[in-house]
Amino acid sequence: HTPLIGLTGGIGSGKTAVSDLLAELGAGIVDTDLIAHQITAPHGAAIALIEKQFGPDFIAADGALNRDKMRSLVFNKPEARKSLEAITHPLTRQETVRQALALSKEGVPYLVFVVPLLIESGSWIELIDLLVLVDCPEETQVQRVMQRSNLPREEVERILAAQASREERLKHADIVIENQGSLKDLEVEVQDLHQKILQFQKDQPS
Ligand code: ATP
Repeated sequence: HTPLIGLTGGIGSGKTAVSDLLAELGAGIVDTDLIAHQITAPHGAAIALIEKQFGPDFIAADGALNRDKMRSLVFNKPEARKSLEAITHPLTRQETVRQALALSKEGVPYLVFVVPLLIESGSWIELIDLLVLVDCPEETQVQRVMQRSNLPREEVERILAAQASREERLKHADIVIENQGSLKDLEVEVQDLHQKILQFQKDQPS
């Protein structure tokens, strides 16, 4: 089968930068974060179910999920988070599989599933042939996210604290991409990664 590569890493580590570079090299990319966002966008597949479960107040005027309202609801309520995820996770997974099948029919050499919380959630791990981790120092993550999202430092640190630790992620990784240099350095690392994955594919018994 087409090898399935899991790509993970903490917030701001550079997952999107790496998957964009792999896409240029011909990889088939399925971004589960993007899919999760799309199913809660206006008229997305999760909207009707969310409305039924949580009520019309949680749907914005444009037909999208009211993210602010949902975020404050689930923030301190694990059971509300669970019911939301019981709706969104299966739909995300279904769409991920649909896109993966379409890409493998197109004949991509391998598939990359971008899963931000792959290590935290566990449910993707059994599908994956190789787990690639994008890693950088926590301070670099903080700086990048503050710059990109205009969030205060405390907010970014709070998000980092809720994710798996750097050590925990490193324990699970088959291949680590160091993304602490320039984007040019990253390009070189990603070319090397691409070759490693192609070699991995060749080494698989058919
Ligand atoms: P998130 O989980 O928050 O979506 P991510 O892991 O996908 O983040 P990216 O979006 O790729 O991370 O990178 C975060 C920000 O840092 C982006 O603005 C990106 O352009 C920038 N960035 C990533 N890698 C580098 C690098 N090596 N040098 C400079 N900027 C970088």
